[in-house]
Amino acid sequence: MALEIVKYGDPVLRKKGARIEKITPEIEKLVKEMFETMYAARGVGLAAQQIGKALQLCVIDVSEVEDRPSTLEVNNQEADVKAFMPLTLINPEIKPLGKEVAGAEGCLSFPEMYAEITRQESVEVTALNAKGQEMHFRAGGLLARAIQHEVDHLNGILFIDRMEKPDKEELKLRLEALQKETKAKLKR
Ligand code: ZN
Repeated sequence: MALEIVKYGDPVLRKKGARIEKITPEIEKLVKEMFETMYAARGVGLAAQQIGKALQLCVIDVSEVEDRPSTLEVNNQEADVKAFMPLTLINPEIKPLGKEVAGAEGCLSFPEMYAEITRQESVEVTALNAKGQEMHFRAGGLLARAIQHEVDHLNGILFIDRMEKPDKEELKLRLEALQKETKAKLKR
């Protein structure tokens, strides 16, 4: 079942996620629901904070995106991105690599808001998958961007924190309105 996505203004988005020590049936259910929620919202990534749980858990699937390429290396060998999707990352540790690149980003917790965000071109990832097995890989392109965006969420960091000042200034009124709306909803 698709869950409601937490919007900007909810304090859970600022919480650092707790590490997951064991893949319990509750975690398995949460992963399934997070994928359902992400697909229903047509997103390419979703962090646990966005469904109200401060955990080190995010889901990603870039396989439907044709116009923004992704790259993947597993064991130093080029691998098929689509075959690697969907991706569940538990307790991820990342090392951003390469040069910085700007690219358009949105976030399901900020409906209809987009901005250019500068991130590193590729990223080395160590994480557990949904079965609790350790994975190591290197991602580039859109996948690297999505991973950096989601891992930020797991640490309470939002894409507005990485926006250029003029872009954030332009969104200021809409951000304030969204924050107000979310806070009013939480009081009800
Ligand atoms: Zn986001």
